[in-house]
Amino acid sequence: MTAIPGITDVHIHIQPWKQMKPAVMDAMRKGKEDHWDFLIALMETPRMLLDIMDKSGIWRVGMVNYPSPDLMGFTLDTNTFAARYAEADPVRLMPYGGVHPRFQGDIYGHVDELLELGIRCLKIHPSHMLFPANAYTQGLETLAAVYRRCEERGLPVMIHTGTSIFPGARNKYGNPMELDDVAIDFPKLTIIMSHGGRPLWMDEAFFVLRRHQNVHLDVSGIPPLKLPEYFPRLEEIGDRVLWGTDWPSPGVRDLKVNLDQFNSLSLPDTLKQAVTRTNPLRVFPVS
Ligand SMILES: [Zn+2]
Repeated sequence: MTAIPGITDVHIHIQPWKQMKPAVMDAMRKGKEDHWDFLIALMETPRMLLDIMDKSGIWRVGMVNYPSPDLMGFTLDTNTFAARYAEADPVRLMPYGGVHPRFQGDIYGHVDELLELGIRCLKIHPSHMLFPANAYTQGLETLAAVYRRCEERGLPVMIHTGTSIFPGARNKYGNPMELDDVAIDFPKLTIIMSHGGRPLWMDEAFFVLRRHQNVHLDVSGIPPLKLPEYFPRLEEIGDRVLWGTDWPSPGVRDLKVNLDQFNSLSLPDTLKQAVTRTNPLRVFPVS
């Protein structure tokens, strides 16, 4: 008998919030004032997260982290933070990390260090790192080195697309079309396109997703009830869609509410199972 795998949310934010710049922290706190202390404690206490996951019926989560010292305030320590946090339950808590192509030189060494730490995915956040996702085509060689090393070592790369409301974020770098270059130049790289360019560039996102078999869509940050409107042909890429919430980012209040909303959509059950259970397991096998 093969058990049905549990639900994986490939995109939540457990980060060293203490490092956030004051203006970023203000933007993060907005709308969360009533449970802010709870969230601050959550960022230091894996047991609290595991309890929430249990209550929400979530098996595993991917914890997005990336350095963005000049814009968000996150330093390279964000990688060890994620790795340490995940030690509480290495199967259910998947740490993500990053290197910063504008600040770091020995890219291969840094990517290898991430793997030694147990990092499961490398995050590139163009609008918070201040370069387009294809900046290596204009001379940012260190970015090509990131993609190349991840391709060689089999480390998935998650790339933010769509808007960001944090102070200083450059939204011109949110266009998913820039992933077309990355998918062409690094054909064996597993690319996860976060947010499908929402709310501005869904057509571009869908084009890139249909064209490139190595690009996956992480639906986090898209209000689940809007998904059919944003991606009316979701089924055509159904084997490469991954469940995610972006919780507790602005506007995303509850893991379970989002999941229930997704499950309420009139989509085939096979697609819902693939998105929430089997596709994430294929991209992130239990190691
Ligand atoms: Zn996110």
